[in-house]
Amino acid sequence: MRTTCASMDIIDEQQAVIQPLDAGWYEGRVAAVDMLRLDLLHAVISGNKWFKLKKNVAYALTNGYQTILTFGGAYSNHLVATAAAAKAYRLQSVGIVRGLHAADALTNTLQECIAYGMRLHFETRTNYERKNDAGFQRQLSEQYVRTFVIPEGGANQLGREGAGEIAKLIPESYTHICLPVGTATTFTGLRNAMPLQQVLYGFAPMKQGRYLEKEIEEHVNASGPVWQLFDDWHLGGFGKHSPSLVHFMNEFYEINQVPLDIVYTAKMMYGVKEMIVRGRFDSTSRILCIHTGGLQGNSSITRQLCF
Ligand SMILES: *Cc1c(COP(=O)(O)O)cnc(C)c1O
Repeated sequence: MRTTCASMDIIDEQQAVIQPLDAGWYEGRVAAVDMLRLDLLHAVISGNKWFKLKKNVAYALTNGYQTILTFGGAYSNHLVATAAAAKAYRLQSVGIVRGLHAADALTNTLQECIAYGMRLHFETRTNYERKNDAGFQRQLSEQYVRTFVIPEGGANQLGREGAGEIAKLIPESYTHICLPVGTATTFTGLRNAMPLQQVLYGFAPMKQGRYLEKEIEEHVNASGPVWQLFDDWHLGGFGKHSPSLVHFMNEFYEINQVPLDIVYTAKMMYGVKEMIVRGRFDSTSRILCIHTGGLQGNSSITRQLCF
């Protein structure tokens, strides 16, 4: 059986530096706006995806599993991060993809999954809805050898616990922590591991994203830091974007030399900036925005970007 130890980690978390953003960008309206660059950890297993996967992969290895099976859409950063992590740890990987049409014209993300050796298995949208159903998972798992199932988005207890480790990278001097939210797995894990006096703000990049509050409430500890979700900055909906968002990303890069991803971190920073301008933070606030990576998702708009 394989053994694991911390030194086998394929990612050095110390590479996630905190970068101050240019004060001119937020016009000195708050005491500080800095960014925790989780995007620097790895080109593909970037940002929060590593934290959600690390304990799942360790569990699979120590328990003698040979295959990791997980779920995602055709643009899923989680799917490609899982494929790359599985390859690095010499595990087989299987991706259950939402929608049969996804097989007809493979997205860059799915092509990358295949390049990392992931086997893709396309399901109808109706079948895919059963992704959390134990019977359906068993039926899929049985087709592969010693299969460990990770839910879509790494949304399980091990995923939340791994995400909680992001708290170790956050100094206590910050008053507000800002984080983009998809399944809210990272948000919930971080919320449960953060110091009490900090406030956690989540930015949902989809319409009516506050449906996630229910999901979060199910898994957050009864006591802990104050948290709040915002869904005002979806800019057209999940995966959609407006010309103003692309303009914002280019401007943000020119000022701060930080590339943002169009699905998550760009919308969060767009929202953070508007909140600052509208006076939603008092002037003593020290804000830390978490760059959760996902830059591979920009491949569809590279021609519009200056970075
Ligand atoms: C997946 C992803 C998220 C969302 O993480 P959840 O834990 O699902 O909420 C945020 N940012 C980026 C860049 C991502 O790829």
